[in-house]
Amino acid sequence: MAPNVVGASIVELADGIRQGRLKSRDLVEAYLDRIARLDGAIGSYLLVDADGARAKADAVDKQIAAGEAVGKLAGVPIGLKDIYVTKGVETTAGSKILKGFIPPYESTASARLAAAGAVSLGKLNMDEFAMGSSNENSAYKPVRNPWDLERVPGGSSGGSAASVAASLCAGSLGTDTGGSIRQPASLCGVVGMKPTYGRVSRYGVIAFASSLDHPGPFGRRVADAAALLEVIAGHDPNDSTSIPEPVGEYVKACGAGMKGLRVGVPKEYFQAGMDPEIEAAVRAALEELVAAGATLVPVSLPHTEYAIPTYYLICTAEASSNLARYDGVRYGHRSGKAGSLEEMYAETRGEAFGNEPKRRIILGTYVLRAGYYDAYYGKALSVRRLIADDFAKAFAECDVLATPTSPTAAFKLGEKATDPLQMYLADIYTVAPPLAGVPALSQCCGFTKAGLPIGLQIIGPAKKEETVFRVAGAYEARTHWHEQLPKDPT
Ligand code: GLN
Repeated sequence: MAPNVVGASIVELADGIRQGRLKSRDLVEAYLDRIARLDGAIGSYLLVDADGARAKADAVDKQIAAGEAVGKLAGVPIGLKDIYVTKGVETTAGSKILKGFIPPYESTASARLAAAGAVSLGKLNMDEFAMGSSNENSAYKPVRNPWDLERVPGGSSGGSAASVAASLCAGSLGTDTGGSIRQPASLCGVVGMKPTYGRVSRYGVIAFASSLDHPGPFGRRVADAAALLEVIAGHDPNDSTSIPEPVGEYVKACGAGMKGLRVGVPKEYFQAGMDPEIEAAVRAALEELVAAGATLVPVSLPHTEYAIPTYYLICTAEASSNLARYDGVRYGHRSGKAGSLEEMYAETRGEAFGNEPKRRIILGTYVLRAGYYDAYYGKALSVRRLIADDFAKAFAECDVLATPTSPTAAFKLGEKATDPLQMYLADIYTVAPPLAGVPALSQCCGFTKAGLPIGLQIIGPAKKEETVFRVAGAYEARTHWHEQLPKDPT
């Protein structure tokens, strides 16, 4: 009988496979069947690697039948945001400029998943070059929120969040530069974890803003995200910003409880005028943390109001530099119209970049230009330091911070698409942690009256992922939000 994968947890699937109760191949078939039936309505996959997944699953099943030792994630079907380069499998970063690009190498994170036995079902939809908060900037197709198909799943890792919510994979990888793991996790009602900067290697992760890009996991349960992070984290000599330190026991931390921990409540994240349904759900979650043994501590992050402008100056500056490599010579698309080399660059980039990358390249080159550099980019770097200091001071008084993840639940497709400033404000609670490089997780803490998920964000000090998992795991153990599942689209 085909196994039921709806609502499945990575940890449970991995146990079932290791103990011989489940076959990886059966799980892969169950997910492929769901993708074939349901992803037309959701749009979370850009590429389904059915043959690759079947071959890998059969190999794992064979190893287990032969009694061989297998990795921690042996046979578990997962999906990868299409920003992770995958050897021999087309990788586009959601952009037409990389259409047809077949990478000659594998990203460290996806290679580590594969080495642990995980089975990749394919590549997940995303905003072009991870720029966006709604997945509407994908050059290929939008992703729809499984809880309401008229609404966005969040972005830029919209496919990674929606595929987990809709049980089209057991877990996934995304990237978070200003919120792109946590905000879609919040809007889709799943768990998303942005680790400390450098905890997961950026090698083979297509660059958007290098000092801000954080690869990380999505799961249905907190322990699922922890299980993925344990595998992908750790020093990598191929990324000079990777942290040369051992990886913690994140899954274990999820069950360690949170007695005695101090939870900071930053007043800047609970302002008058905030969405009442979001505020009520997050305040109720704070009470639940108290019931789990925490004490609440009021704290202040005084430079919060500068986080969005600081983020958009730095990320556009870095993006303008990173995106200079797409010149029609080395990768993907090349314009057929051009005469000279100069024209070839201009035509290629003009034809194949979407509006959002173009907007950011223009803004980024502007802020880096001689004469403006000190006024904009230099200033932003100074304020970034102040924002990081805010977190350091707050963590002298508390162990973690708890805040909303997103100012609103999922909004309608098209609602903010024509107004980039409105879209940028969707990141108000998520941009500061990546500027400071500290770990942060989003998990479901309730639903609006319209049935849309609401996210709770837990932020920890640098390198203290265990503390974040302790709090998130303790909260999850006391609540049932994570058990709610969206209905399959008809
Ligand atoms: N929404 C933010 C942006 O558009 C964050 C994106 C991200 O984290 N990759 O830049």
